[in-house]
Amino acid sequence: MVRYLITGGAGFIGSHLVEALLARGDEVAVLDSLSTGRLSNLEAVRDHPAFSFTQGSVLDELAVDQAVRDCDVVVHLAAAVGVKLIVEQPLYSLTTNIRGAICVLEAAHRYRRKVMVASSSEIYGKNNADALNETSDRILGSPAVARWAYSTSKAVDEILAYAYHRERGMPTIVVRLFNTVGPRQSPAYGMVIPRFVRQALAGEPLSVYGDGSQTRCFCHVADVVDALVRLLGEPRAEGDVFNVGSSEEISIEELAKLVIARTGSSSELVHLPYDVAYEAGFEDMARRVPDVTKVGEVTGWKAKRHLVDVLDDVIAEVRAEYALARDI
Ligand code: UDP
Repeated sequence: MVRYLITGGAGFIGSHLVEALLARGDEVAVLDSLSTGRLSNLEAVRDHPAFSFTQGSVLDELAVDQAVRDCDVVVHLAAAVGVKLIVEQPLYSLTTNIRGAICVLEAAHRYRRKVMVASSSEIYGKNNADALNETSDRILGSPAVARWAYSTSKAVDEILAYAYHRERGMPTIVVRLFNTVGPRQSPAYGMVIPRFVRQALAGEPLSVYGDGSQTRCFCHVADVVDALVRLLGEPRAEGDVFNVGSSEEISIEELAKLVIARTGSSSELVHLPYDVAYEAGFEDMARRVPDVTKVGEVTGWKAKRHLVDVLDDVIAEVRAEYALARDI
């Protein structure tokens, strides 16, 4: 049995990881400020004897110190995420991501704990390669653009993890998460699938930003959690970085049409220019496709679910949510 600390464990990915680790028989403590995470995400594990929850920020050194002291392995997921949030609150995003990672890594160093740090495919910036592998270049615009500032903050988190590994011998693992989707993902921070599914089920137009030709690969959160659990159990992963994501590429226009088809909605598509959807000068990535060879070689991982599986799971969740709201 391993005692895990999951920072950001009340968030979308975190809460699924908590459930997977408890199901394996591990002990899990969550530290979460509940700024974007929700206690309702942890409903299923609330009374589990091996689970504990502390409301606190990763910027609170004392709270982090105590939580890290009492665990064996840290999974650092607490971060400002979502393009909408990082564009609207760049200072908050930078502080949470950089200072939060420093605080967690310093405590892990103090107590000699293993740490997994969650990074993001945002670090690749505008690199439109066929498949981005872990050594692909970062291509960024001006740091005055909030998105590139966010990308830099996640790269700083990575660099800190590498430096602690090389210079201090700490076992750190970096995971670069590509678009991750599934039940419990909030529509509040801009993510496209929870937004499209709600719009379709409400009979509202689906808001396609730009011309909709930009592509993404959406991975089911259950597959992402499977990759994280495998990497946590693999000593060869220490000191290294791994892409985790789906290789099934789809344009946002096609995604909108697929959501309409799977929901049976009569909604239309509406195209919104980026500077209306976000802010003047906003830059999007034309495509973002991961090369996941490395995580496959080291752990045997492969995404098992397809985009339609993700959509059906999210549609079922949102239908239940709407039915509940109607009953109240
Ligand atoms: N997007 C969209 N409509 C929305 C929300 C997002 O067309 O209501 C687009 C967004 O511009 C991007 C893609 O969908 O091209 C994925 O956006 P998301 O925020 O989910 O992820 P990321 O941009 O980080 O890949």
